[in-house]
Amino acid sequence: MSFVRLPESPIACRNLVGGEWVLPRDVQRLEVRSPYTGEVIGHVPMTSEAGVAQAVEAARAASVGWRAMPLRERTTLMARFRALLESHLERLSHLAASEAGKTVAEARAGLLKGLEVCDFALSLQNLDTGGALEVSRGVSCEFRREPLGVVAGITPFNFPAMVPLWMIPTALTVGNAFILKPSEKVPLTACALGELLVEAGLPPGVFSVVHGGREAVEALVAHPEVRAVGFVGSSAVARRVYAEGSARGKRVLALGGAKNHLIVVPDADVGLTTQAVVDSFTGCAGQRCMAASVMLAVGDVQHIVDQVLERASRLECGAGMGALIDQASRTRLEAAIDAAQKAGARVALDGRGKKPAGERWANGHWLGPTVLDGVRPDMEAAQRELFGPVLSIVRVPTLSAALEVENASPYGNAASIFTTNGAVAQAVVEGARVGMVGVNVGVPVPREPFSFGGTGESKFGHGDITGVASLGFWTDLKKVTRKWSSRTDGSWMS
Ligand code: NAD
Repeated sequence: MSFVRLPESPIACRNLVGGEWVLPRDVQRLEVRSPYTGEVIGHVPMTSEAGVAQAVEAARAASVGWRAMPLRERTTLMARFRALLESHLERLSHLAASEAGKTVAEARAGLLKGLEVCDFALSLQNLDTGGALEVSRGVSCEFRREPLGVVAGITPFNFPAMVPLWMIPTALTVGNAFILKPSEKVPLTACALGELLVEAGLPPGVFSVVHGGREAVEALVAHPEVRAVGFVGSSAVARRVYAEGSARGKRVLALGGAKNHLIVVPDADVGLTTQAVVDSFTGCAGQRCMAASVMLAVGDVQHIVDQVLERASRLECGAGMGALIDQASRTRLEAAIDAAQKAGARVALDGRGKKPAGERWANGHWLGPTVLDGVRPDMEAAQRELFGPVLSIVRVPTLSAALEVENASPYGNAASIFTTNGAVAQAVVEGARVGMVGVNVGVPVPREPFSFGGTGESKFGHGDITGVASLGFWTDLKKVTRKWSSRTDGSWMS
């Protein structure tokens, strides 16, 4: 069985600065290993502050001409990029899957979401993005949306294509120069996106890639020329990036981690609920910010729990789930399962030690679907983001008790209710303190142009990273008030 096509030989990633692929000098280079096999599939340079400064300077210089280019022309170039993305969809899906450990289907879905964001950005020229109003005789007010200049996107390992594509199309189309700092664990897809943007004909420096980790992030966040930072990653880093960027007067939107709850009540449709719960906690091996990690079982829903266990136990590691990103992640998850057991939870389904058949996958990082039952709301397994295929079942007597547990979580990314009763669904839609709510949907990701984003510790900053709300993030809204004198100087006026 083959889950994914790995690159034929290791790819040496370079930074994209001023339209050239350059290798920063005197910096550490890390190996990039495929989570599927442990093989080295690339190398990534850990850019220093000086390397970041070069990229920002090239982006600043390019932003002047890019901003001056008519929107129509920028849109045409971005339409070329969209066409290239589509024609390279399969190659990019395998590349993203091979470095992030996700399934090819999941990687493809991420790219399709990226195409959706491109469609939104390409429609901007036809949208009324401002407005004008005569406020009194001879005086008018209007909005002008203006690009910010140089902006940056810092992205996590789990969506090598989709998360960068949440930001790139809109930020570029409105006229900014964009610097991408991808996760050092998945730099290959970022390079491929850069190649396609160059091939689309973007002027040099309008799109840059700087690889690296903490030092590169801190340099971007500190650089005075970087006006806005879009960040997606864990809450601890999101909080810090938000605090440091905001303290320097930058616009920062920092999306963090999550602990998403699926509330299941006795009248829920058994088949639909079972499939949604299992797909949600095992998809991408649970390494999604939208993964269900807690099932709030309201009243007697044992018949659904039984079905969830039965369906999850039939899943094979690898085929439908993908691999964990690295060995550290597997060790952390196994320790969390042990700790839950010690704290009194029952391991109803144990994925430890599971791996796909075949020598090829022997050095991959695997954990099969794991279900912890009898988890109490005060346990770590109910509170902390585990980021793996582990479902914690918390039993609660009533819907209001379920909402209480949901709303006590510091995170606020997503929650879903599974019911056949509209009033019950409405109570959760209204009562859950989250940014995204689902009704009978395991992964309630809104389609564009509805924006994506949570609340609480899942999002630091205002606005949203995609959709209409992202326009306000990537642009300045200038307010213009005009008054013209009624004096006429020449006979040609009449
Ligand atoms: P991470 O926080 O470790 O890394 C994210 C980015 O920050 C990477 O580019 C990384 O190089 C950089 N970084 C890491 N440590 C840093 C530090 N100390 N200082 C400065 N920069 C640092 O996250 P990850 O492990 O790559 O991704 C998984 C996390 O991302 C999960 O918590 C997941 O829930 C979250 N996530 C959230 C969303 C969302 O929309 N809310 C989407 C995807 C992933």
